[in-house]
Amino acid sequence: SAKSGGRGCFHYFTSGMQASIQNRIALINDLRKAISNRELTLVYQPIVEIASGKIHKAEALLRWHHPRRGIIAPADFIPLAEESGLIIEIGNWVFEQASLQAAKWRSRYAGNFQISINTSPLQYRNNTDSPADWLAWLAEHKIDAAALTLEITENLLMNDYDKVNKRLAQLRRAGMEISIDDFGTGYSSLSYLKKFHIDYLKIDKSFVQKMSKGSDDLIICEAMVVMAGKLGIKVIAEGIETGEQMQLLAAMDCQYGQGYWLAKPLSVGQFEALLSPESKD
Ligand code: C2E
Ligand code: MG
Ligand code: MG
Ligand code: MG
Repeated sequence: SAKSGGRGCFHYFTSGMQASIQNRIALINDLRKAISNRELTLVYQPIVEIASGKIHKAEALLRWHHPRRGIIAPADFIPLAEESGLIIEIGNWVFEQASLQAAKWRSRYAGNFQISINTSPLQYRNNTDSPADWLAWLAEHKIDAAALTLEITENLLMNDYDKVNKRLAQLRRAGMEISIDDFGTGYSSLSYLKKFHIDYLKIDKSFVQKMSKGSDDLIICEAMVVMAGKLGIKVIAEGIETGEQMQLLAAMDCQYGQGYWLAKPLSVGQFEALLSPESKD
């Protein structure tokens, strides 16, 4: 019965659920070794200035090349990394790789080039000190903090308001920019835009992809663009997949865009081909 508890507990799981729990444990164990086995890589998706079509910056996106399972998407392993605490080590690895890449592209192609890095709420918690580690890493490698933007989600802003705000302010003083990712999806509060010093707002792809003439999503996108503009916050529309979405965004003077219609996430080599002047003929 349900009250017997103890050793009998596994009876409550279907075999499918058991498999998935074992699967998760196996994946976490594999993930523990992923950095030292060099199974993690970053791909880079261009963020484009809509009016000119020029590359504005890049967003670093994590990929895990599992030796047996193939490429695993972040949605399938970031939650496991968060649950297991591995996100701190993985997040530091992402920060280090992306900052080295940004420094390289700055010296080779454009002195003001920037890379955006996705971060997890756990990296700003009290019991770790990732932000201090990042600043030390940048100083050690003589990398300008202005080469980096940190993407955070609205949900992060909800918890530990004072602590998070203090850390973000410190990173911003050092020269990094702060971007709210997936704006409009989390437990949004417009008051965050006033309380926090935000440089970018990324309109979530769920709005962008449902825009059509006269639709509610079009009105919501327009309102976000106008509001951000008046608050002095730059706007990036995510998940642009069609020319029509691109035209609607251009018509509302949305500054920046990102999506498969412009470019998919690219390897370092593919991204360099876009940056190199020889490729622009
Ligand atoms: P995100 O930060 O919102 O990143 C955008 C996601 O949308 C990426 O998925 C990207 O490949 C995808 N995308 C870009 N353009 C389009 C499009 O036109 N259509 C559609 N349908 N999708 C598009 P990806 O790379 O699978 O990453 C998913 C999420 O995983 C990211 O969402 C981010 O929250 C998280 N993530 C990725 N890398 C990292 C990381 O290094 N650290 C942390 N903490 N999270 C990461
Ligand atoms: Mg992002
Ligand atoms: Mg996003
Ligand atoms: Mg997203």
